[in-house]
Amino acid sequence: MKAIGFVGLGLMGAPMASNLARAGFPLTVFNRTREKAIPLIELGANLARTPTECAERSEVVITMLTDAAAVAQVLRGEHGLLAGGRPGTLLVNMSTVSPEDSRSLEAEVAAHGWAKLEAPVLGSTGPARDGTLQIVVGGDRELFETHRDLLQAMGKTCFYMGPMGAGALTKLAFNLIVGAQFNALAEAMALAAKGGIEPRRLGEVLAGTAVASDLLRRKIASLTAGNFAPGFPLKHLHKDLGLMLGTGHRLGVPLPATAAIHEVCTAARSRGHGDLDSTAIYSLLNELSGLMSRS
Ligand code: NAP
Repeated sequence: MKAIGFVGLGLMGAPMASNLARAGFPLTVFNRTREKAIPLIELGANLARTPTECAERSEVVITMLTDAAAVAQVLRGEHGLLAGGRPGTLLVNMSTVSPEDSRSLEAEVAAHGWAKLEAPVLGSTGPARDGTLQIVVGGDRELFETHRDLLQAMGKTCFYMGPMGAGALTKLAFNLIVGAQFNALAEAMALAAKGGIEPRRLGEVLAGTAVASDLLRRKIASLTAGNFAPGFPLKHLHKDLGLMLGTGHRLGVPLPATAAIHEVCTAARSRGHGDLDSTAIYSLLNELSGLMSRS
């Protein structure tokens, strides 16, 4: 089996890397905050002290990091991935980045003889744990087919979307709908609550209607329980909405609702909700509508 390096053991990366280890791939992991690697070591993964060391031991390096800047930082420099790889090493970036950044990263690694696939994921921490993520792939099709096995250890369904950038664009389109749904849920709950309907009661009704997807049903349950522990952190939704707007500008596609929700998330982050789940938009609306004073 191919030797895999995995960089970025955050909310998503840790369970995804665990599934690779359980599938039997020889795995070397690196995380900036080293303690987060302990559960992976217990599953048999090797710990790299630097990204360079991770690349030295790997044929394929997967990155699951906050954003394109983090991926670039991990690639570059004295201890970066590029210092440890060889021509032919494959980078699979699974972090959510813009199509433009995805293509720039490809050009950067290609200058060192590396190949690249983009493979962002649809689904959050639950599917990451269960290995049921949906993975949207861009890049060379044959390369994807060669490495489908390792992607399928993390996600039940892999969709080949086209050349580099197509996977990233698909991911942004998906998250555009996620963001709109979270915002709609928060607004509906705040409106009803201010008008005297208990959110839990509204949640029970909504959960049985045609508007409730599996995702919304889960979020209705956590939101009405006052549980804002991050599954998909608000700061990441904010980042992704910014990427959608940038891509929309470049393609000449107006995204008016996305722009408004981006501003809502800017306000929520400024109020300190960035590390909470994206449904914490509801907390912001509660504050703004006088339903709840800030602690
Ligand atoms: P997270 O929990 O915040 O983890 C981010 C990871 O990136 C951590 O391992 C962090 O290291 C690392 N990192 C950030 N900046 C770095 C830098 N400059 N150098 C080295 N390491 C750096 O995020 P996540 O939720 O796992 O999300 C990861 C990616 O998946 C993001 O692009 C996100 O948009 C996307 N995504 C998230 C979800 C979700 O539901 N959470 C779903 C789909 C896609 P430390 O541990 O040291 O901070």
